[in-house]
Parts: sequence; C-alpha cells; structure tokens
Amino acid sequence: MPQFQRNIIITIDDNKFICRRCGKVFTSKHLVVTHILYECGKQSVFQCPLCPRKCKRNDVLQSHLKNIHRID
Ligand SMILES: [Zn+2]
Ligand SMILES: [Zn+2]
Repeated sequence: MPQFQRNIIITIDDNKFICRRCGKVFTSKHLVVTHILYECGKQSVFQCPLCPRKCKRNDVLQSHLKNIHRID
C-alpha cells in the first residue's frame, strides 16, 4: 500500500476504518481507499449536461443520468 494511504487511514478494527483527512468512518478498507482516491477533498467535477447537478464520480453521474433523465 502506498505510504500516503497508510498515513491517512486510521484502522480501528476489521470493520472500522477512519479517513484522517475528514474523519469519515467506513466499514471496509476498500471503501475508505475509494473515498480517499476519488472523493475526499475533491471538487465536484462531473457536471450533468442536462441540469445543474455536479457529481464527484463519473459512475454517480451515470446513474443520475439514468435515474433522473432516463438516459443510458
Ligand atoms: Zn476523507
Ligand atoms: Zn441532471
């Protein structure tokens, strides 16, 4: 694991991981790593072309387009 991840993740036990940057609690290491890589401290960058909604991740925008605008 890269050094920055070791420093930023606080491991409480097998089911509890905390992001040191924002204090958010996660139930798996996969979730906290994904959060740090793609969410934590990042601006909303994926702008919906059809409404003012911005998403932090492309897959969230894709499901927004699908669910709200009925576009696949
Ligand atoms: Zn965080
Ligand atoms: Zn939209």
